[in-house]
Amino acid sequence: MKREKSEALFEKAKKYFPGGVNSPVRAFRSVGGTPLFIQKGKGAHIWDADGNEFIDFCGSWGPLILGHANGKVVEAIKRTVENGSSFGAPTELENELAELILKNNRYIQKIRFVSSGTEAVMSAIRLARGYTKRNKILKFDGCYHGHSDSLLVKAGSGLVTFGNTSSAGVPESFVNETIVVPLNNEEAVRQAFTEFKDQIACVIIEPIPANNGLLLQRKEYLQFLRTICTENKTLLLFDEVISGFRVGFEGAAGYYNIQPDIITYGKIIGGGLPVGMYGASAEMMNHISPEGNVYQAGTLSGNPVAMAAGIAQLTECLKPNFYKDLESKTQFLIDTIFQNYKSCVTLSGVEEDQLQIFSIGSIFWIAFTDKKNIGSAEEIDADSMKYFRILHKELLERGVYIGPSGYEVGFVCEAHTEDDLIRTAKAFGEALAIAMKLK
Ligand SMILES: *Cc1c(COP(=O)(O)O)cnc(C)c1O
Repeated sequence: MKREKSEALFEKAKKYFPGGVNSPVRAFRSVGGTPLFIQKGKGAHIWDADGNEFIDFCGSWGPLILGHANGKVVEAIKRTVENGSSFGAPTELENELAELILKNNRYIQKIRFVSSGTEAVMSAIRLARGYTKRNKILKFDGCYHGHSDSLLVKAGSGLVTFGNTSSAGVPESFVNETIVVPLNNEEAVRQAFTEFKDQIACVIIEPIPANNGLLLQRKEYLQFLRTICTENKTLLLFDEVISGFRVGFEGAAGYYNIQPDIITYGKIIGGGLPVGMYGASAEMMNHISPEGNVYQAGTLSGNPVAMAAGIAQLTECLKPNFYKDLESKTQFLIDTIFQNYKSCVTLSGVEEDQLQIFSIGSIFWIAFTDKKNIGSAEEIDADSMKYFRILHKELLERGVYIGPSGYEVGFVCEAHTEDDLIRTAKAFGEALAIAMKLK
């Protein structure tokens, strides 16, 4: 496979950007090699600067649930931008997207648009603190919530800990307001509530943790969080930046039918343009400025072009059977990968049960393990990532693009055809057999 143009572009980019990129995972550090510079995308396919074509399962890390350059989204963007790209004043498009969302979501009543997932979560945390007049927040090891200071905190060595910063530049005093516990562990949460009685403003969780593998939680566990939060007058914050509009129009809240107090969204909501959102009851949202005293603002918030892209994409998501079809496709892909894998590994003499593909809706995650369930970060075998590196490389050689890290999930989109999925499964069978030979 030719890589010269991507390599030259990357050399140049390294002069301009730290690590040559504008977001770290793009640098291919965990798989090695040079990142591919993408020139265009259409449907489920992307082309790199050297003209190589790939079937894409990264989907810009989740936003592109319809695939690349969807006709309706592109048309909406063009039509809107012809009339100006930003005014810093309200536009009707904000009402339209809000109405589309709120009419079809039973879990929130009032919202605020922002420009990224990070910004949505950061603002939601401020709301939780302002509303409860408490400072501490509780998060889970293995959940990602963007790069704001309070959330760049990882677990320490005990069951209930103030975390350690996971980034230089985050003051110790911030870290002391963030409690970190393992996922899927009721005792740890109970202990935190005892130790920090009446101090915890909110419990924040990805109800479908999908940024550090796919660590599916039991519904009973999420219900337990709901109950313990209510008992302690602590807010339950669902960070649905990845699961929102992905496992269903109402995201994980709808999937599990659990009412959180605040929900954050991003990714899919903007149709591939930068949009984030947080929402709650009208009463709670009225604590946000200018109505209330929790300050939050944004020059480009509710940007009309981004709103138009979001409206176009979410309108498609509301079509009957949209999510059911996506889920069937994903199941078909997984079943077909296993068929191919089994015949390939049998040929190469590898044991069959060393591979799992965890999935929910149109999200899937490949894990090199014989564990049938993985519900917490500590259950992931870091050493198994060496198989992923080979898998990733061999898939690229075979024209399949997945996120360049074994901790990242893949996404099936509306534009994937049966032929795409069959070709992908065949590539997986061969690539997995090569990767697994190491075992
Ligand atoms: C992607 C993601 C974020 C951060 O969103 P950005 O748009 O990258 O800032 C936050 N929370 C979750 C659950 C995410 O998946």
